[in-house]
Amino acid sequence: MSVMYKSTRSKSDKVTASQAILKGLADDGGLFVPDSIPVFDIKLEDLAGLSYQETAYEVMKLFLSDFTKEELMACIQGAYDDKFDTEEIAPLVKKDGAYYLELFHGKTIAFKDMALSILPYLMTTSARKNGVKNEIVILTATSGDTGKAALAGFADVEGTSIIVFYPKNGVSPIQEKQMLTQKGKNTKVVGIHGNFDDAQTGVKNMFNSKELAAKMDAKGYQFSSANSINIGRLVPQIVYYVYSYGQLLKQGEIQCGEKINVVVPTGNFGNILAAYYAKNMGLPIETLYCASNENKVLYDFFQTGTYDRKRDFILTSSPSMDILISSNLERLIYKIAGEDADKTKSLMDALTGQGQYDITEDMKKGLDCFVGGFATEEETAQSIRRVYEAADYIMVTHTAVASHVYYDKAKDSGL
Ligand SMILES: *Cc1c(COP(=O)(O)O)cnc(C)c1O
Repeated sequence: MSVMYKSTRSKSDKVTASQAILKGLADDGGLFVPDSIPVFDIKLEDLAGLSYQETAYEVMKLFLSDFTKEELMACIQGAYDDKFDTEEIAPLVKKDGAYYLELFHGKTIAFKDMALSILPYLMTTSARKNGVKNEIVILTATSGDTGKAALAGFADVEGTSIIVFYPKNGVSPIQEKQMLTQKGKNTKVVGIHGNFDDAQTGVKNMFNSKELAAKMDAKGYQFSSANSINIGRLVPQIVYYVYSYGQLLKQGEIQCGEKINVVVPTGNFGNILAAYYAKNMGLPIETLYCASNENKVLYDFFQTGTYDRKRDFILTSSPSMDILISSNLERLIYKIAGEDADKTKSLMDALTGQGQYDITEDMKKGLDCFVGGFATEEETAQSIRRVYEAADYIMVTHTAVASHVYYDKAKDSGL
């Protein structure tokens, strides 16, 4: 079965996976979504025997159905190799009663490497498949980790160049140095006056400008995105949820078919949306816990059905989650609106115009499998201490936010 991609904001023509990867954002400003979520064509119990690369192939072939087997295998082999410091690529470890999926074993030690190691391969393969002659200019907004991981992924990749925009005072000093010292003839980094949302909005505006696109084209360039608005970022992220289920089976921690819960540190809603897609593919996931830091716009949304970005932007110790406009939520909104593009567009216009939108009671039902939670700065710090003392395991702040939400929920639900 072949999966095509359509926009969340209009009934424009469908595009192939490779075209969606090349474009990044749809012409109408919407995000590309698969016209149907494919289901596994292997048995769940077989997941236990698959390597990370084999799992990646089984998942990605279903979403990127216009890639040939050879093309996709070449992308996967190129990305998930000894750049990672462990053959497992994403080890699952048990600490103090919970499982932690370690997504930091890549080249820049950031979780973003999981998807950004493969995106350049998917992008150049897509360009070749579609006979693109232009140089592809990757525009990326970052609140920290994405920038370095994207720069490292695209550095000196033939036929591409990359420009990263980051909030001048909104990333850590180390992250800033990581980005500013990036090697490569085709890399550029720009610090902006503003926060991550400003950077992301600016990038989206550049994408949406037909005038700029025409000027670029005349000079032999076209834009694409390395942010998680690009389905080429999202699809590789589904893989590690499927892989972790296989690991739980392999380690004898669960029975085949047994449901698991996932707690996901969330910012732009890409990571957790990938888990949602995995669930829709048939992976036995019960509840998706969406963990936010003090920028808890998503927590409030899951509580009330109102998405309200009119609040102070707080700089926290988990900067990759300092976001008030979670772009990928649009893909979920589209789904729970019954794939109604007009409806989605009017809600997104309300978010831009009035700074908020409300969903209907009917749409709220589609959120049944989501539970929101958040951690304050104090709770994040306590969470790091608790796991360190209990299990001698040191968590980064982002993981600590999720760990706090897990313990908090576990206390009152016996999770
Ligand atoms: C980006 C990031 C997140 C959040 O992922 P989203 O897809 O933006 O929700 C969480 N933790 C870390 C370490 C990150 O870099």
